[in-house]
Amino acid sequence: MEFELSDAEMQLYARQILLDGWDIDAQEKLKLANVLIVGCGGISCTTVELLARAGVGQISLIDPDTVEISNLQRQIAFTSQDLGFYKAEVLKKRLQQINPYIQVNSYTQCLDEQNADALISTQDLVLDGCDNFSTRYLVNKLCVKYSVPLISASAIGFVGQLFMVEGDSACYECLFPKEQLENESLRCADSGVLATTPNVMASLQAHHALLYLGLAKMPLKQKLLVWNGMTMSQKILNFDKDLECPVCQAR
Ligand SMILES: [Zn+2]
Repeated sequence: MEFELSDAEMQLYARQILLDGWDIDAQEKLKLANVLIVGCGGISCTTVELLARAGVGQISLIDPDTVEISNLQRQIAFTSQDLGFYKAEVLKKRLQQINPYIQVNSYTQCLDEQNADALISTQDLVLDGCDNFSTRYLVNKLCVKYSVPLISASAIGFVGQLFMVEGDSACYECLFPKEQLENESLRCADSGVLATTPNVMASLQAHHALLYLGLAKMPLKQKLLVWNGMTMSQKILNFDKDLECPVCQAR
């Protein structure tokens, strides 16, 4: 792969390269990065568009769903003309139009035990914005197994959450033990959400991803950011490793 940024890319990213604390070196790190986006819903639509515009070089998208009319209220990549088409494919086309200098792959299936190993083990970073707990647990398990950093974002109602799992940090299952959720049928897909909430969380997730990929910064490693959309306030909570965690303690 071409490592150096072309003249056209230098122009495209000029405002970023000008930034104090960001430089060509950070921009080239973005170009070399492989990032997997799990889910192409309200969070991922915005996250991945920001990453594509910022210059993340290799983006993979996975989502088995097609665009439905109730998605258009908050999933900013889609229009009424996309109804019935696979979200991952529509989004891929949009990202390629936005930034022709990056590589985008799309997968129109569920992330499952069969395909997850191959997809996750090759990534520099995984961003989870999916709408169900079973996928979130699987993504967490494989990110821990392959030591691939994970930034997980969620939004329900007026509240959003964001945190990062990396290296020796506590993992998703330390924070949300599986047995606590076993009887809970709550899926983001079935609950109400204001149009803006997932997009606020997506912007924070994309921002953290750029900090990590370009500058190796991890402000939310083993910290849970909770954004309250009713009071417009946010807090950052510390959480501990679960010494009985079947995922990160078994490694
Ligand atoms: Zn754990």
